[in-house]
Amino acid sequence: MKSIPQKREISMYRPEVAASSIERLRMVLESGWIGLGPATKKFEEQLAKSELIGKHPVAVNSGTAALHLALVVADVPRGSAVIVPANTFVSTAAVALQHGCRVVLADIERTTGNLDLDSVREILRTEPDVSAVIAVHYAGIPCDIAGLNEISARHGVTVVEDCAHAIGSTWRGRPMSESPNIQAYSFHATKALAIGEGGCVTFPDAASAERASKLRRLGIDMGARSWSNPYDIPELGFKYNMGDVAAAIGLAQLETLPEKLRQRRSIARRYREQLADSPVELVHERHESDRSGGFAVPVLVPERDRVRKELSAAGIQSEIYFRPLGEFPLGATRSTPVAERFARDVICLPIHPLLDVDDVDRVCDRLLGCVA
Ligand SMILES: *Cc1c(COP(=O)(O)O)cnc(C)c1O
Repeated sequence: MKSIPQKREISMYRPEVAASSIERLRMVLESGWIGLGPATKKFEEQLAKSELIGKHPVAVNSGTAALHLALVVADVPRGSAVIVPANTFVSTAAVALQHGCRVVLADIERTTGNLDLDSVREILRTEPDVSAVIAVHYAGIPCDIAGLNEISARHGVTVVEDCAHAIGSTWRGRPMSESPNIQAYSFHATKALAIGEGGCVTFPDAASAERASKLRRLGIDMGARSWSNPYDIPELGFKYNMGDVAAAIGLAQLETLPEKLRQRRSIARRYREQLADSPVELVHERHESDRSGGFAVPVLVPERDRVRKELSAAGIQSEIYFRPLGEFPLGATRSTPVAERFARDVICLPIHPLLDVDDVDRVCDRLLGCVA
């Protein structure tokens, strides 16, 4: 039997760490201080550029911590209800529970994978104690922020944006940072700006960022320190701060981020071209002027599990974003039929920047073969 040349595995994730991170790490490791310090401050200053993350960023040790701090600093009342889309990672809901709130799941739109604002309005009509909505820009596809903010103004609820997927996304042609809401980002190993573990929360005003930057380190305030008093704790916080080892990698990753985002967008474009007019349903932006940063390429197909298995047999990895939150023990009881159907049909295809056009075409050929 002749051996067939083995095609290389197309992996879902390939976190590529910029070469300069070694030098940056060496500088931190040899500096005499490896905790929260100057590298973290510098990382925050870079993130504050409006085309990146913007506003007043506070670096923390995970996206989950960023979301939790957002609820605390927004003064979301404990005991109230928080609306969360059913199609998200468990963090989005977990932080509401950790904050002492109840989670109410909203349904999503099948076309974008994002919060369905009619579902949000329906919840607000029937649940009098809702104080906040956490909107997720699913796969980097921007939510209808204007629609959400209109609802927020009418009902007096806070909007927090889960931007874990949204680095490099633009909303109506503008950077995400132009939204007036508190935004939480993740630098987890799978995200477009990968540190391993890390995150940041951004605030429209400096005073909130100041409060958050104390709360991320147990609430410690060194402002009034003296020979007898090392610090005060005016408001008790959490152990959520980033450290300079992580920040060194983050600073290096920022150098290559624009190029990586360009590659992600060009891969996303290739997928769109190859899968147009096929039985594969592409989850996509709502408006021409909206653009996903290319965190993921979610598609909807019939017989999803068989298709994923066949892709895997052909050496192509894929992922399910997300199992609907109603299936987890979060105490949320409302049914979300669109999200449940979406979760049965969705496949997220590989999009990391080390893929080339041939890889993308191989994924598409195989996928189209599976659904034909
Ligand atoms: C990754 C992710 C988070 C949490 O980020 P961590 O850094 O892993 O804590 C939150 N929300 C969504 C939608 C995510 O994908």
